[in-house]
Amino acid sequence: MAMQSTPRLLILENASVYAPEPLGLCSVVIAGGRILAIAPASDAGCLTASSDSAFGLPTGLPIERFDCGGQRLTPGFIDAHAHITGGGGEDGASTKVPPPWFSDFTTAGVTSVVGLLGTDDVTRTTAELLAGVRALKEMGLSAWCWTGGYHLPPTTLTGTIRGDIVHLDAVIGAGEIAISDHRSSQLTLEDMLRIAGDCHVGGMLSRKAGVMHLHLGDGSRGLELIRAALDSAEIPARVFQPTHVNRRRALLDEAFALAERGCHIDITAFPVADDEDAYSAEVALQRYLAAGLPPANISVSSDGGGCLPEFDEHGKMTSMSVGRSHSLHQMLARAVALGVPFEFALSAITSNVAEHLRLAGKGRIRPGFAADLLLLDEAGEVDCVIADGEWLVKGKEALRLGVFEPEPSR
Ligand code: ZN
Repeated sequence: MAMQSTPRLLILENASVYAPEPLGLCSVVIAGGRILAIAPASDAGCLTASSDSAFGLPTGLPIERFDCGGQRLTPGFIDAHAHITGGGGEDGASTKVPPPWFSDFTTAGVTSVVGLLGTDDVTRTTAELLAGVRALKEMGLSAWCWTGGYHLPPTTLTGTIRGDIVHLDAVIGAGEIAISDHRSSQLTLEDMLRIAGDCHVGGMLSRKAGVMHLHLGDGSRGLELIRAALDSAEIPARVFQPTHVNRRRALLDEAFALAERGCHIDITAFPVADDEDAYSAEVALQRYLAAGLPPANISVSSDGGGCLPEFDEHGKMTSMSVGRSHSLHQMLARAVALGVPFEFALSAITSNVAEHLRLAGKGRIRPGFAADLLLLDEAGEVDCVIADGEWLVKGKEALRLGVFEPEPSR
């Protein structure tokens, strides 16, 4: 359960709403953690009434009004690939990455998180991952997770992927199962089909997405296994979701062909150098749009808390950096600078993710939906964040920190 707060009506006034589609200047009314109403600023007579009897509600009901000053109000970001327990470990236990702090998510505008295990699914466990999901929820975010990790047999709590999806509320599918990577279990087509089938059926039995979220390495086999799976089995294309597909330029082309066949592809907002054989997330989005592919079949995630390692030809790690959810709003600002429509780039970290992963009531500014919202300043920096109707960040200041999180130095 999220933290308790005083019940009140919150009215966000004078906000330039992107739902993600642009709605113009509006007021948004929030109560009980949900969006009640959205009214165009020109037509907001009742919302701007100065008495607390607005809407004919009983007097004495606390009303909080907040002037957004014309800033962009968007749905809270959904980061569907975050190492909430910390990732890494590819050069020994001392290189295990610590878990991100609570405010690493909130100050990045992330209000929904899907956690996962990566290379280290040996010393890190599904139980620890589920505890990480509960911790984020206790603190006021929405969270889910993928079960498994890079390897086979998959790390699970109940013994099977299908069992984890059906029995554990937080589990929405399996991931990140690694393919075309020297760190993978070198899956066969048969392995692939069995896991995808378990995800699909587990999802059906529990009304969840039942997605197989696949980590792609640098290997030249690329997306071959997914193509073979689509060619040979009855499993719907939406079940297969390859991620990191912008890490090699040719891999992105392969991913585009899969998006056309109905797969949902995920790109990673990692840093890309000019001379690198990779595309930044914003360039990948620009190319996707130019290719005229189904607009809903693409998303962007951060790999937050994950290690971003480089390896030599012998598989020895030569350097590493750590992913952060902040790369999402940075991607958004850079995409706009490239000429990508703001609402398209925004949908890749909000509505597209919620709809593919069946996160009900998330990813859009719409009456009845969760009051997960954020305000972006002119530079595209995250200024304010509201999750389930509660302020978590105001004026760029984190109002709530993790239990053991140090106060930020100012
Ligand atoms: Zn990965």
